[in-house]
Amino acid sequence: MRARPQVKGWCPGAYRPMQSGDGLIVRVRPVLARLTAEQALGLCDAALSHGSGIVDLTSRANLQLRGVTAGSLDPLIADLDALGLLDADPALEGRRNLLVQPLWTDTDLTDRLTRALLARLADLPDLPAKMGIAVDAGPAPVLSQHSADFRFERTADGRLILRPDGSPSGQVVTEAEAIDRLITLAHWFTETGGAVAGRMSRHLEATPLPVEFTGTTPAPSATLPEPGPTALGPAYGVAFGQIEATALARLLTATGATALRVSPNRLLMLEGGQPAETPDFITDPADPLRRVEACPGAPFCPSSSVETRQLARLLAQLVRATLHVSGCTKGCAHAATADVALVGRGGAFDLVRNGAAWDAPFASGLAPEILPQTLGTA
Ligand code: SF4
Repeated sequence: MRARPQVKGWCPGAYRPMQSGDGLIVRVRPVLARLTAEQALGLCDAALSHGSGIVDLTSRANLQLRGVTAGSLDPLIADLDALGLLDADPALEGRRNLLVQPLWTDTDLTDRLTRALLARLADLPDLPAKMGIAVDAGPAPVLSQHSADFRFERTADGRLILRPDGSPSGQVVTEAEAIDRLITLAHWFTETGGAVAGRMSRHLEATPLPVEFTGTTPAPSATLPEPGPTALGPAYGVAFGQIEATALARLLTATGATALRVSPNRLLMLEGGQPAETPDFITDPADPLRRVEACPGAPFCPSSSVETRQLARLLAQLVRATLHVSGCTKGCAHAATADVALVGRGGAFDLVRNGAAWDAPFASGLAPEILPQTLGTA
């Protein structure tokens, strides 16, 4: 297996937008993965007024507005601020890399821990920008497959643990001491040179974890919600995480939802809403598009020489396996293995079987037009 190529070391937060092939990308990190209906509709308006109207739902349950220009950036930031979607302090905005168990309820442990953590963000040491914290304190972890470096989870008998990503076990903590223990673990990471590795799991490959941070395993993982009814309201899948703001505004209105929850498995939950028919979102958990990941590719990303999402839609109907179509070896859409990974290079695709985008290919230089036939039996 080859090492993953260097991915840009910072994320495009609202205060530090990132240039892409279709303009600037501005990322909004909804607190507790929730926007009120008013905030969500306002975000849709802002995406249409100041960007291309395309909003990405990222694998960390954030929302990215695309196609922003140098001239439209300031009015966009002003609108997002007026909607209450930004932190007053850009430094804290940058630190708020949190992933939460998306079915949290008012005052449950995930809600309480997240709010306690938000109040203490300034006490964390400076961490590499890609690092994140999962507050996954429901009855069983549901975020184990999603990117995070520090994980709050529960054991099978309901105790709370803090587990560094990459370690099979963590330390039991009380709710009262949980945030202090997280800050201690974060200091251990920085003081032992973790910034060089950039992520906790990579750091642990070379650095022994002190025994105090280990010892207790989490409950077996459970799954995230899928399209269909949930305890909060109807859930809809988002193919490739790409949302059209007009379609989202229509869905919010049609369901009568009071709030929107975002889930890292490319899912929107319409809190308090009634189910509504929609051609724009995935309503069937068995839809083949739920098995497919694809990054924006060309012309949106300058690193890509190939179109990705149209091809992924076509191949989704033909390939019965999990499929990842990546514009290049960085594998932004899916930082894990897939049964089949197609990786753009020089206008053609390399084919990786049971691997990640950066792994050694099984076949190389495949023209896009021969892929439906090549993969029809995969
Ligand atoms: S994986 Fe896709 S989005 Fe990421 S850098 Fe490569 S082409 Fe761009």
